[in-house]
Parts: sequence; structure tokens; C-alpha cells
Amino acid sequence: MQIGGLPLTRLAQRVGRTPFYAYDRHLLTEKVRFLRENLPPEVHLHYAMKANPMPAVVQHMASLVDGLDIASGGEMQVALDTVTATGNISFAGPGKTENELACAIAAGIVINLESEREMTSANRIGLSLGYRPKVAIRVNPDFELKSSGMKMGGGAKQFGVDAERVPEMLKQMGKLNLDFMGFHIFGGSQNLKAESIMEAQEKTIDLAIRLSRDAPGPVKLLNIGGGFGIPYFPGEQPLDVSAIGKNLAQLLPRARQFLPDAQLVIELGRYLVGEAGIYVCRVLDKKISREQVYLITDGGLHHHLAASGNFGQVIRKNYPVAIGNKMQATNREFVSIVGSLCTPLDILADKMEMPVADIGDLVVVFQSGAYGLTASPGAFLSHPNALEVLV
Ligand SMILES: *Cc1c(COP(=O)(O)O)cnc(C)c1O
Repeated sequence: MQIGGLPLTRLAQRVGRTPFYAYDRHLLTEKVRFLRENLPPEVHLHYAMKANPMPAVVQHMASLVDGLDIASGGEMQVALDTVTATGNISFAGPGKTENELACAIAAGIVINLESEREMTSANRIGLSLGYRPKVAIRVNPDFELKSSGMKMGGGAKQFGVDAERVPEMLKQMGKLNLDFMGFHIFGGSQNLKAESIMEAQEKTIDLAIRLSRDAPGPVKLLNIGGGFGIPYFPGEQPLDVSAIGKNLAQLLPRARQFLPDAQLVIELGRYLVGEAGIYVCRVLDKKISREQVYLITDGGLHHHLAASGNFGQVIRKNYPVAIGNKMQATNREFVSIVGSLCTPLDILADKMEMPVADIGDLVVVFQSGAYGLTASPGAFLSHPNALEVLV
């Protein structure tokens, strides 16, 4: 097995110790190229950093996409180190602190307001610093992105401002010292149904057109969210991005007619980076308990919560896993691969058929480029953290 043109065993020697995450630069570049080929050229592509905030990955993504979406002051500092113009960085997330707002305003970052309170805070901070904050309203839509792994819009949510309250907020905004940029409408995450995404995009554009009637100025920015998913489990099919692109192209004339100044933006995290990463750990022990074979590794859920099934899954399913230094082996057996944490939740692969492995072999978990290390409880059980490399 190779990653970034290097044999896995050699990469492991180069990294110096296991466990580690490795992200493949070429696959990241290829993914953005593929998307650009399938989406209308007028639509801008943003990278949502929370999927993988490793600075080297963010630097590489910043060289490929049109903007970055951040969701904390920490992500903001990494984003500000990239080539991305600050006007193409947008800041979402509930509960922004006064300090985060002040830094973002000083930087000239677009703030996606999650509440009326954030609007009045941004106005006050802008006046005291002497800058006019760039703001968009994050709208909690009056519809849902159907069949999403995680719903983040529609119904009662901690995200955004309910669509029905936005007209009043826009009227208030007209009296403040704020540079109105537009709307941010994000419905959900990990969606593999093109039709659901297409339907949500159409409703999103319609909602923005409706809301624009009360806006204090032209809509310059319309972030229609993302939610593009990747296949993890047997039977899941890759998302039909070409269908989404064709449908978007048909929606564009209407957007251009009613929102002539609006730059359309799609923001994606998982879809851009998820398939470009692997997690690698080493077999420390092999045991048999009442006929069940266990491979015990130096990895675990403290590095890769999602692979253990504890990050949003309802029924635990195995991520694609392999013995990275024995890809061709024909001698196979059923094993459970676990980490070294003292909890039964610490499973990387449950009763999977794998090449017969021994102590010292390298276990590889695929589809690990998004929501890996930083989405895991690294301090749990006080083991060393995983390393990360971009190759
Ligand atoms: C988490 C998040 C994203 C990224 O979602 P993916 O499913 O990784 O593409 C984008 N925008 C917002 C506002 C988010 O909270």
C-alpha cells in the first residue's frame, strides 16, 4: 500500500512512531479539480476548516479554493496565516465571544451572525474599533436538508436565526453601522442523496430571495451551505455531484435575476478532505478470547472517535480497515481490532475478515481525513497523541 507515492512501511519509518494520520496532498488537489469540473464556474467553493484544521492541510486547501469557513477564534488564527483574502473568510458558529468578534472585525472577516445579540455586539465593537463590520445573517431555514447524517437547520436549532425572525433583524440592521453582506444557510452534513441536496439548494435560493426584500442593501454573498457526504460503509454510493452541478446551473438565472450582486458560495468540509486521509496504528498484542481474535493496537478512539462508532452513528458500523503492510495476503481470519484504552467502546473494527496479522503490523483506517484527530477525546486515558503528516 502506498500513500502520496510512498510505501506505507517507509512512511511509518519517516514519521518515526505510530499512531499517525497521513493526508494525501494529491488527492486533495484532485477532489477540488473534480468538483470544479462538475459545478458551475460562477459558484465559489469554500473549505470548512473544522473538518480538518491541520495547518498544513489548511494551507494546501487555501491554495485551491476560493475561501475558508471558520468556526472559532483558533481556526481564525490558522486561516489568517493563509493566502486567503480576509473578505473571503467567513466566521460561523454560535456563542462567538466579544474577543472573537473583535479579532474578526479587525481582520475584515465576514461574520455570519448567529443571533440578534451577535449583531448588537458586532455593531458596538465596530464603533469602538472604528471599522465597519462585514456581516451576513446565518438563517435557520423553515425547511430541512432531508436524509442528512447530521441536521443543522430546520425546526428548533441552536444555529442561526429562525427565518421568520430575519426580516425584523434586517430592519434593525439598517439602523446600525454594519456592512450587510448577505445570508448563510447551512442545512446539514454527510448527505449522499443528490436529490435532497438539490431540493434544499432550490429552497435556499428561494428563501434568500424572499428575505432580501427586507435587507438594508443588496445581497453580495449567498452561502448556500454544502452537506456533501462521502461513502463510509458497504452499500453506500458516492454522491452524484454532476447532477447537483447541472441542477445548480439551472437555478443560477433565477438567482442572478433577483440577487444580481450575489456571489454564490458552497462550503464543504468532509467531502474535500475525508477520503484523502488514513489513520495508522500498530498491533501491540494479539489475543484470543473464547475463539474471538483480538488485535490490540497503540491507537484507539482517543485519536479516532468516528471510527469507533461514537461520533454521530446510531448503529455502529466498521470503517474500511486494512492491514497496510499485508494488502496482498490471502490467508485471512475474522478479527476485532481495538485500541489500548480501558473501555469496551474502544473498537476500530468489529469482527471483520482481514489478512492474518501479527504484532508489529500496521492497521490502516481509511476515510479518515475529516473529523479525525480534532474530533476525538485526545486526553482520555492519557496516552500519547497521534501525529499528523501531509504527504
Ligand atoms: C460543520 C460545518 C460545515 C462542514 O460540514 P461538512 O459536512 O464537513 O461538509 C460547513 N458549514 C458549517 C456552518 C458547519 O458547521
